[in-house]
Amino acid sequence: MEKSKFEGKNCVYCGSSIELTRDHVVPRCLFKDPYPNDMVTVPCCKGCNSKKAVLDQYLRDYLTLDPASQENETAKSLLSGKVQRAIRRNKSQLFKEFARNARPADMKSKGGIVVATNMLAAQIDGEGMRREFSWIVQGLFYHKFGFRLDSDVTFEAARVFPPEAKRFFSDIFSATSLCWNGPHAIGDSFRCWEAHASEDIRFSYWVLLFYDRIPVTVWVSPMTMNYQEPNALSLDS
Ligand SMILES: [Zn+2]
Repeated sequence: MEKSKFEGKNCVYCGSSIELTRDHVVPRCLFKDPYPNDMVTVPCCKGCNSKKAVLDQYLRDYLTLDPASQENETAKSLLSGKVQRAIRRNKSQLFKEFARNARPADMKSKGGIVVATNMLAAQIDGEGMRREFSWIVQGLFYHKFGFRLDSDVTFEAARVFPPEAKRFFSDIFSATSLCWNGPHAIGDSFRCWEAHASEDIRFSYWVLLFYDRIPVTVWVSPMTMNYQEPNALSLDS
């Protein structure tokens, strides 16, 4: 049964056709039970699935520990439940790094994504988070367009921080050069919008919004294409 389900399929993330499973593109751990029934799943090899599972947890802790997400019911309930439990049991990788590196700091730090505002801040695994956001977009892309983004595209992921986050949506959706599709929403944890070039749909721009408050942008660019980001948008890098 399992075999025929994945016949002719490949892992959406690495292209392998061996040991395929299903991956929840927007991690299931960002939702609470009962889970929404419209979760997006894609074929994924065992190797990628277990690597992504680690980053899924990391992302959950990153998002729910952020004061920005605390007006969201799901984020609040995860924080007081699963996340607190993981911290108590010393199983939150993010919290361990945070405890090790925390120092008074600005909201944004060089080359990294920062955990908290107005309090202690620490650099987190920015590289891991960028990979996680790229994976999410890779999965959403496959779900929407039915083919896999190969290694000939690059992903540029960035968080939009307050206070820019406030202005961000009005700026971006009034940018006339982009034709937006969306939002696609899953529960109250996740929404996303997407705009792509008609001559090459791989060339696309994604806005992921977690818990109504934490926007992340991802540019997908085929390496064979030259492009310029619209000047009107000032995004954090
Ligand atoms: Zn894989």
